Amino acid sequence: MPKDLRIGILGGTFDPIHFGHLSLARAAQERLNLDKIVFMPAFLPPHKMMRSTTDYALRYQMTSLAIKDEEDFLLSDLERQRGGQSFTYDTLQTFKEMCPACQLFFLTGADALKNLDKWYHWQEILDLAQLVVTNRPGFAFIMPEKIKDAAQKSRQGILLLSFDAEDISSTELRALIRTHGLWQSMVPEAVANFILSHHLYEGGD
Ligand code: ATP
Ligand code: MG
Repeated sequence: MPKDLRIGILGGTFDPIHFGHLSLARAAQERLNLDKIVFMPAFLPPHKMMRSTTDYALRYQMTSLAIKDEEDFLLSDLERQRGGQSFTYDTLQTFKEMCPACQLFFLTGADALKNLDKWYHWQEILDLAQLVVTNRPGFAFIMPEKIKDAAQKSRQGILLLSFDAEDISSTELRALIRTHGLWQSMVPEAVANFILSHHLYEGGD
């Protein structure tokens, strides 16, 4: 019998992808002994409807460039194929149907904890995948009671993973690019070149 595949899924807007995402993925892979990490750019991020995100195709290409040298990092366009709002619940369910033998780990930073209970079918998410929450500079690493209760009742609970996280966010990066600050060391070189050649984030938010 082949062993079950342990798959980490890192969902994100990746607008743009940065070293904070990559170090999270590496830490999770090592510490949880994951076979693969799937980067899953959101097609229409439900919680980011207030701001227009960069075209999916551009975010997808940047993610592809960022992981090109990492053998165990994969890129999925599942959320574009499905279209509409990108709900994690739908994505995990589809993934589980595509790979029933896969053991899924959904990876997020600590900022997810404060509004996890607003996510579509959030309690069912805890049954579909092992939710892994990592520390992130600037965000409390504390689980609200309501979420703690649901985690205790769920099949797999929530795993808190502490690692040497980087103090980077895409919001800060976009602001630095717009204001001609120093940002290039926060992303892989190929991503920086892509941003420059496509004149991304030079105006607006
Ligand atoms: P934005 O500022 O636009 O929200 P972001 O930097 O938070 O961008 P996202 O694409 O929203 O990036 O994040 C995808 C996932 O990666 C989320 O689960 C988020 O918590 C996590 N993440 C992002 N940056 C870090 C970081 N520096 N350390 C740990 N986790 C991170
Ligand atoms: Mg974010």
